[in-house]
Amino acid sequence: MVEVGLGRVGLERHGEPVERIPTPQRLVDWLEVYGLAVDSCTTDQLQLARELRESIHAAATAAALGEALPAPAVQVINDRSVRGRAAAVLTPEGERRWRLGPDSRVEDALGVIAADAVSIIAGERDGRLALCASPSCGAAFFDASQSRTRRWCDMNICGNRQKKARLQARRRGNSDSAG
Ligand SMILES: [Zn+2]
Repeated sequence: MVEVGLGRVGLERHGEPVERIPTPQRLVDWLEVYGLAVDSCTTDQLQLARELRESIHAAATAAALGEALPAPAVQVINDRSVRGRAAAVLTPEGERRWRLGPDSRVEDALGVIAADAVSIIAGERDGRLALCASPSCGAAFFDASQSRTRRWCDMNICGNRQKKARLQARRRGNSDSAG
């Protein structure tokens, strides 16, 4: 499951924008982690990935807020989903794996991510769409935890950052009252 696709390689949302997929190679590496290994990636294909990421972000954010889905974002997600040629296959261990087209194109991998986003935004998965509580992030994420109380898109990144900020604020507060 690719969660709300490409979310974690997204831009910092409300803070300084940081492009986390600056090069085609970074996209190749990221896709491989999610079991979507591609042979190569051009800058044009990287552009497609970024466009899809922004569209999923826009649509998932609207869905999380209960707002109407932005039509251009829906269009991009649908286009990518239609153009992918990946197929779900079963491993001998009974797990689902994606097999991309014969030449393992980036478009096939993006098709999987787009289809994944469709099923999540359409509410077909067991979970809840939510927005990251970190003020510098705000990324849409998919909460599949049992309690449905996850607050951050990534505990290790946004969750820790928040904890550190709170700790620092408390320390500042203490030294103020002491001094
Ligand atoms: Zn976050």
